[in-house]
Amino acid sequence: MSYLKNYLKASKHLDQKESALAFMASLDVIQSVDPKIAQAILAELTDQRSFLKMIASENYSSLAVQLAMGNLLTDKYSEGSVGKRFYAGCKNVDTIEALAEGYAKELFGADCAYVQPHSGADANLIAFLAILTVRVQDKELQYQGKKLGELSQEEFLSLRDLMLHQKMVGMSLDAGGHLTHGYRHNISSKLMISSFYEVDSKTHLIDYAAIQKQVEEEKPLILLAGYSSYPRKIDFAKMRNIADSVGAVLMVDMAHFSGLVAGKAFTGVHNPIPYADIVTSTTHKTLRGPRGGLILCKQEFAEAVKKGCPLVIGGPMPHVMAAKAIAFKEALDPSFQEYASQIVQNAHALAERFVEHGASVITGGTENHMVLLDVFSSYGLTGKAAENVLREIGITANRNAIFQDPNGPWITSGLRLGTPALTTIGMKETQMQMIADAIHRALSHTKPKKENGALSRVDVLTDPEEKQKAQKQIEQLTGEFPVYPELLFDEELCQTM
Ligand code: PLP
Repeated sequence: MSYLKNYLKASKHLDQKESALAFMASLDVIQSVDPKIAQAILAELTDQRSFLKMIASENYSSLAVQLAMGNLLTDKYSEGSVGKRFYAGCKNVDTIEALAEGYAKELFGADCAYVQPHSGADANLIAFLAILTVRVQDKELQYQGKKLGELSQEEFLSLRDLMLHQKMVGMSLDAGGHLTHGYRHNISSKLMISSFYEVDSKTHLIDYAAIQKQVEEEKPLILLAGYSSYPRKIDFAKMRNIADSVGAVLMVDMAHFSGLVAGKAFTGVHNPIPYADIVTSTTHKTLRGPRGGLILCKQEFAEAVKKGCPLVIGGPMPHVMAAKAIAFKEALDPSFQEYASQIVQNAHALAERFVEHGASVITGGTENHMVLLDVFSSYGLTGKAAENVLREIGITANRNAIFQDPNGPWITSGLRLGTPALTTIGMKETQMQMIADAIHRALSHTKPKKENGALSRVDVLTDPEEKQKAQKQIEQLTGEFPVYPELLFDEELCQTM
């Protein structure tokens, strides 16, 4: 049995969609080489359909985005940038990269766009090195009147030493920052001398006055704003003023909220583009594109950023750049603005309902796409235990450290709940309330098991009846809001394939 024939059978009385035909046909092609891989891809679809996706950093990209990635473009080497390649035969990659850059510039109103970074982590690394190149290396070379290749080994080592002594100030991990913002186990802390700003210990909000003070003391080369788990908007005008007061470069990592900027849910001082010197992003979170990275910058850094290869990365991935172009074009459609605003409204509804239930929501609510729940103080459960309970009732979400977490960064005390994926499949405020009710029901009827006389931080027991009620509530939603509804297939038939 072929996947395509299975689809044709399952969709007999419905409109057959070209994207679904293409997806199913691709599974047949994959199956002809390794059936186990084809089965795993389909099994992932079944898994994603059976659980509500509430991981704040994930989404459902369109089939057009996915199909743009799965083709012969992957075969082409195209090191360099548009019109300036180290390889022959790059005319078509030039077309694709220029389109992706153009759409990105239009979408964000940016001076310069670079669409080659393979991921958000790569984008950040390129940005750090581009800043070091422009603000340290180029100045030093100008002073010495030499090009980089002309330096003796001794001169080069002394330049390297100078570059390795530059400072960066970013948000700490437990306040909501990301690993790539100077965390000791990440290369960013080895490349730069990093220190962190925290959030207010009572409100858990960014304290701009405290950052100002810290930056005056540190005098960093880079002030970095952006987060992975902070449920509020940032005032980038304030961040710009703080950076300017010590001549620092303002870098913003909008990996999480770039879709909210693109969809104009974040405007004015909450849109980083007019204020930051360099903005990095992923393309697969709220922006709903392929897995990848993006850099937007002011003209001062454009040349250095465009040298991301060889600075950090090797050959670009033309298939992913094609998918980024498709995603940016999709985000330029006015419907994306409705999407972005609904993401925020949904998160707001979710947070409000938890507050009504008396749960502890970090910062008391949300202004973006995520809700951070302190499950330890609300339900006496660790983040790890709560994450497991949610999976048992049909929700995929991730545990998250909260500020000064009593359970540490692995077990944690928090849950991070995101609305981008659920909004993509059409859910609104009513569904968010139902989800908050189901989560509250399950967590408030869960108790840690006893382990050698003490309470386990991981093993818990949920009252079976209450768990079943919560499962039913979630099942109703997964049934009503199917993921990739056009991808029809007969599961029983598939199992015999
Ligand atoms: N920056 C931020 C703020 C993130 O949240 C993430 C990923 O979660 C990254 C960078 C890294 O992105 P990637 O996983 O694509 O490397």
